[in-house]
Amino acid sequence: MTWRCRTCGVEHDELPLCYGAEAPWRALVPEEEFDRRVELNADQCVVDGKVFFLRGHVELPIIGRAETFAWSVWCSLSEDSFVHVCDRWETPDRDGDSYFGWLCTSLPIYPETAHLKTNVRSRPPGETPLVEIQECDHPLFIEQRDGITLEQVEAIAHQLLHDPTA
Ligand SMILES: [Zn+2]
Repeated sequence: MTWRCRTCGVEHDELPLCYGAEAPWRALVPEEEFDRRVELNADQCVVDGKVFFLRGHVELPIIGRAETFAWSVWCSLSEDSFVHVCDRWETPDRDGDSYFGWLCTSLPIYPETAHLKTNVRSRPPGETPLVEIQECDHPLFIEQRDGITLEQVEAIAHQLLHDPTA
């Protein structure tokens, strides 16, 4: 169903329910050294063979709707955790594996989200891991627990996609 922004009138095929973020290698590696120092695919990023990032979703229930809103983010994991995740990437019973991770994505519209403590939980193969924020006084934790309204989802779309000052 077509969605029209209430704030500025821009039309989309649908209201976006997931926003991605680039893997956080730029904080560690100059662009011209990318090929030599960074291994990157859609789900995993390794810098210098010793810094390990995994992509996951912070999911926010949308109040009164079946759909879920998701921020696609990157977390840093210990080497042991990362190796464990990768070893079990295609394993049917990986569902429920969980790992400590530091959130390494600075999300827009929130107080700083980088370096929040998280629990990264595997889901069945093919599904993006779930990132559970562990710091209970952060707004993202509260939204993860209580959900957000459809109006908030629309406001996020406007702010991230249409607001030229953002
Ligand atoms: Zn708009």
